[in-house]
Amino acid sequence: METNIETKIKLLPQALANKIAAGEVVSRPESVVKELMENAIDAGADNITLLIKEAGKTLIQVIDNGGGMSEEDALMSFQRHSTSKIKDYEDLENIMTLGFRGEALASICSISQVEMKTRRPEDEVGVCIKIDGNEFKDVSKVNCDKGTSIAVKNLFYNTPGRRNFLKSNQTEFRHIYETFVKSAISHPEIRFEFYNNDELIFSLKPGGLKERLAEVFTVQFTDSLIEVSAENSHIKVTGYISKPNFTKKAKQDQYFYINNRCFFSKALNYSVYTGYDDLIDKGDYPSFFIFIELDPKKVDVNVHPSKLEVKFEDERPIFGFIHNAVKEGLRKADLVFSVGFGKEGTAEDQDMAFLNPDRKNKVSNFNNSFKREAAENFTDEIKREPIKLDRQFYKEEIQQEKSANIYSIFDAVKKDDDAENEETSDINKLPHNTFEHKRSDESRFNVWQFQNKYVLCQTETGLIIIDQHAAHERILYEKAVLWLESQSPFSQQLLIPLYVSFTKIDFEIFKSLQNEIQYLGFNFNLIKNESIELTGVPSDIKHGKEEKILQELIDQFKEYEMSLKLEKRDNLAKSYGCRSAIKAGDSLKYAEMIQLIDDLFACKMPYVCPHGRPTIIRITTDELDKRFSRT
Ligand code: ADP
Ligand code: MG
Repeated sequence: METNIETKIKLLPQALANKIAAGEVVSRPESVVKELMENAIDAGADNITLLIKEAGKTLIQVIDNGGGMSEEDALMSFQRHSTSKIKDYEDLENIMTLGFRGEALASICSISQVEMKTRRPEDEVGVCIKIDGNEFKDVSKVNCDKGTSIAVKNLFYNTPGRRNFLKSNQTEFRHIYETFVKSAISHPEIRFEFYNNDELIFSLKPGGLKERLAEVFTVQFTDSLIEVSAENSHIKVTGYISKPNFTKKAKQDQYFYINNRCFFSKALNYSVYTGYDDLIDKGDYPSFFIFIELDPKKVDVNVHPSKLEVKFEDERPIFGFIHNAVKEGLRKADLVFSVGFGKEGTAEDQDMAFLNPDRKNKVSNFNNSFKREAAENFTDEIKREPIKLDRQFYKEEIQQEKSANIYSIFDAVKKDDDAENEETSDINKLPHNTFEHKRSDESRFNVWQFQNKYVLCQTETGLIIIDQHAAHERILYEKAVLWLESQSPFSQQLLIPLYVSFTKIDFEIFKSLQNEIQYLGFNFNLIKNESIELTGVPSDIKHGKEEKILQELIDQFKEYEMSLKLEKRDNLAKSYGCRSAIKAGDSLKYAEMIQLIDDLFACKMPYVCPHGRPTIIRITTDELDKRFSRT
């Protein structure tokens, strides 16, 4: 189309047009929806409506209130390689708009009947253009709202082969739905509406990302998300990821955006998974909505006509950055398992699992898997507010312990346990009635041990229950990782060296790990006949257990190697954590419990043991009040 009037839309020079990834843009109704929505967003609209009929096969219409076009531009827009978004190669390298290829409208109008109405805010009247399979049928002045409306009718009407290739309405609708959702998430500040056969599917109010997600998905789903946010001078990453126990069995609801453009990347997906570490099982997938902001020069969006793939100049730092952002987000989030009551408050829901013997099996399942099923079974929720420990009380308690006023609220229970545990407990030889205090009005108990297995602790909002073994495992695991990395362990020298012998196989393993074992804090000399002379051990290892723990460390290492195929150091750190940790059945002194709690909360990931089981469960006072019908 030749015209003398100055247009915003220009034909791309041939050489530049050739640089644009070649290929067909329109393969199904969804691709038309995508292109039209992208154009509306690029036009600066803050109100976009999508209407489809018969899954887009008979009608796809997008109405926006963006900048509109002059008549000349409107005519020009249907030419192949005509675009207002780039002029030269430099622009191609600096793309911030969704479109740049100048091909969509040309492609769309060649395989359908198009009616465009458009008006710029500064124009009195708009223009209406009708095209049938590339042929202009009518161009006329029209009174219309500012912005642009493009209706695409009877897609592929002139290419029956391709029309027959379309899938069922249900399938085509699903594709459109997903594309709509992607766009809606990318711009929560834009109001979106979506009608299918005159039925309103979505009416999304402008707002923040969280509100948008709550509207598109559910409030419950959105509440289960953790925020991620990280930034340096090159890159900014923001968004949300799902909590570990809300993972899915399929790769669902995983969205990456680069400069607000949705894209797929297997490698970056993987960087998110690895950020979860042990928090999710193999075969479970987190949901995420991750927005990357990056200098457009550093990313090539011109890889494929669908513009769904992007190529980063250097992917590794981005991979690492996202990995760390996810890790950090998880670390900051309060992942403590909270035992709650069902929202509906039915009798069944109010069964507090751990108080009800019938639920025992489920309880053990709950303890064994920090997973969604458990969360669903018990309507357990992971709550966001941070745990605040009653520090003031600790201090008082410690003081009291020092002055050795002894009285226990669990006297009876404890006496029995102590008798049983006299043999098994390896926690020093100090008196066992450790956490026992004078019961008086001023003194309050806020940390105590239950069944020699759990440590209960009062917090500002309720009660937390710590699995002493899992917690200590986490603490020792993180210490071990640190030692292995820094290679500067602390060890305590043994007064009298110990001689430890291994089987031939174990000795081979021991030798292959000897550097790492030394980093953990074991000092030894190899002597002949599969034996070592042990002269020092890590300071966490209790006197009298040195040989046993070393042997168990090797056994555990073998087991993990067989079953989990862990990387050598991670395996060793996990084995060390598992074998050196206090066990269920070990009686703890008050000061030891305090130490355990302090060390646990100093961990990078205090809420799960190295195998992903929870270390802490919370019951809030509110929930107890509810249980006792106090509210
Ligand atoms: P591209 O988006 O790659 O530039 P298109 O074929 O999708 O190519 O559109 C061609 C041109 O038409 C765009 O560059 C833009 O100037 C104009 N255009 C298309 N849709 C709209 C719209 N909804 N509002 C304003 N201008 C539009
Ligand atoms: Mg476009």
